[in-house]
Amino acid sequence: MSSGKIKVFIKALGFFVLHFGRSPVQRVAACGHSWTWHSTPGAQKVVVLGGSFAGIELTLPTGYKAVWIEKNSNLNYSFNSPRFSVLTGHEQTAFIPYDGVAKGAPPGIFARIQDRAVAITENQVLLASGDHVEYAYLAIETGSFQPLPVQLVSTELNGACHELKGVQQIIMASQKIAIIY
Ligand SMILES: Cc1cc2nc3c(=O)[nH]c(=O)nc-3n(C[C@H](O)[C@H](O)[C@H](O)COP(=O)(O)OP(=O)(O)OC[C@H]3O[C@@H](n4cnc5c(N)ncnc54)[C@H](O)[C@@H]3O)c2cc1C
Repeated sequence: MSSGKIKVFIKALGFFVLHFGRSPVQRVAACGHSWTWHSTPGAQKVVVLGGSFAGIELTLPTGYKAVWIEKNSNLNYSFNSPRFSVLTGHEQTAFIPYDGVAKGAPPGIFARIQDRAVAITENQVLLASGDHVEYAYLAIETGSFQPLPVQLVSTELNGACHELKGVQQIIMASQKIAIIY
């Protein structure tokens, strides 16, 4: 085996050991957490705004509970946007449902709100629906602005797929395409 292949093999091995080693550790930690966390009447709200890669993982001690505000029904897997801009018929696989995101979490620790935050005050997040959510702590994980096809206007699966199909049609109809790396 050439030294290049050995290097790739060692890197891949490191990745898989870390990945598959972390998963059981996380499961045991989650199990322990569900035994130790207890619902308390005056629990303080930790609000997480934006539920993509940065906002999706949180562990809280007793006395705190999480409220998760995310405008989209599904995680938009942005890494794959270029692929689904040219590959027809598979757009729906670019979106990972958020249902079950708190599976296994202790009852009462987590609430999900699908809405768009429009403003933040000293202790509240104001939502497009007109509701507001009070917080003791706020984590803002709203990412950065990206144009189509990375960020889509629709917050629901069908609308988002429709937007991606529109991008596919524009590319199919194009005579000249520049690929910028
Ligand atoms: C084509 C492509 C390939 C990439 N490849 C890689 C890679 O190989 N490796 C890598 O590490 N990174 C890669 N990235 C970068 C990676 O996608 C970003 O770093 C990552 O998405 C950032 O995560 P985030 O959670 O901070 O923000 P985002 O993924 O942008 O998520 C922000 C979330 O906040 C929500 N949100 C925003 N505003 C509001 C609001 N007002 N109210 C409610 N919710 C709101 C959004 O709906 C979204 O779910 C790639 C990006 C692209 C576009």
